[in-house]
Amino acid sequence: MKAPDGNKLAILHALSQGGFISGQVIGEQLGISRAAVSKHIITLQEMGLDIYKVNGKGYCLSQPLSLLNQQDIESTYAQLDGSGCTFEVQPIIDSTNTELMRRLQSGNISNNSVLVAEMQKQGKGRRGRTWQSPFAANLYYSYYWRLDDGIHATMGLSIAVGLAVYDALKALYDLDVQLKWPNDVLINGRKLAGVLVELDGTAEGPCHLVIGIGLNVAMPEAAAEHIDQPWCDLNELAQDVNKNQLVAVLTCFLQKRLGQYQQHGLQAVYKQWNAVHAFAGECVELSSGTSKWRGICEGIDEQGAIVLRIDGQSKRYFGGEISLRVKS
Ligand code: ATP
Repeated sequence: MKAPDGNKLAILHALSQGGFISGQVIGEQLGISRAAVSKHIITLQEMGLDIYKVNGKGYCLSQPLSLLNQQDIESTYAQLDGSGCTFEVQPIIDSTNTELMRRLQSGNISNNSVLVAEMQKQGKGRRGRTWQSPFAANLYYSYYWRLDDGIHATMGLSIAVGLAVYDALKALYDLDVQLKWPNDVLINGRKLAGVLVELDGTAEGPCHLVIGIGLNVAMPEAAAEHIDQPWCDLNELAQDVNKNQLVAVLTCFLQKRLGQYQQHGLQAVYKQWNAVHAFAGECVELSSGTSKWRGICEGIDEQGAIVLRIDGQSKRYFGGEISLRVKS
């Protein structure tokens, strides 16, 4: 699918201001006919945008839409005394993580680059799963970070990233965020965001990390139908969500957490993570391929391994292939 451009993008900008706007007014602003406006609206609806029409009033978005703007991100980041990161906004991309990995491979990337997009055609979860990424609805964010200490230092990085998302959501919207091992951000058991860390490097040499964060802001119904687990979005939890502010604030917290991680690993923060983790003290099941382990979830240790109490003993599990589910 193509991202809206030209007149479609202009229509979307007009609608994103909020309220109703008539086809005639839009047409006059763009110098096109009402019929042409109506055709563009139909295409936007087909792309998954919830736009509806009321006779005599015109068109309206079913929920407010916040569009990405590079200048807004940069100025908010500067107001927050942020420094060191560069920002780029793309309307459409296969996946923000894939794009940064490609740039990494071609040597065309600088440390602390942030890439955000309005839409991902191939948004990724772990192990080939799909991350629903409809146009203009949510945040699709990637950050490139070079770590000179090598791969051994990257164990548990998703934990530090989860805490940065926690910080941003707490600071901006005072949300009761829970973190699910190893990479999910939940509100009342429903998934609001996911983290996907991809890496390239050797144990001895520098390690190149691409940190992806997908965070739901205003999920349209059509895309939500493809999500096979409980989910939520920011629009139902907070007022006046501004994606540009979110990008700037998230980046500042991410930089702080990455700096902390580089210096002390998870030593200083694993207890903090344990204080907000989903399923604390609950019966859970870990699975990896055909292996399964059931026990009481005790939280994580200093390396970011998940600890389960099984038959009276605490056992640690670690690895990118493991999934955690609560068992009632
Ligand atoms: P694991 O515990 O192994 O990480 P997971 O189901 O959380 O399992 P992820 O790879 O983290 O897997 O995320 C992909 C899954 O998240 C999809 O299979 C789907 O169930 C769900 N999902 C996809 N898009 C979204 C979205 N925009 N918001 C919330 N959940 C989504």
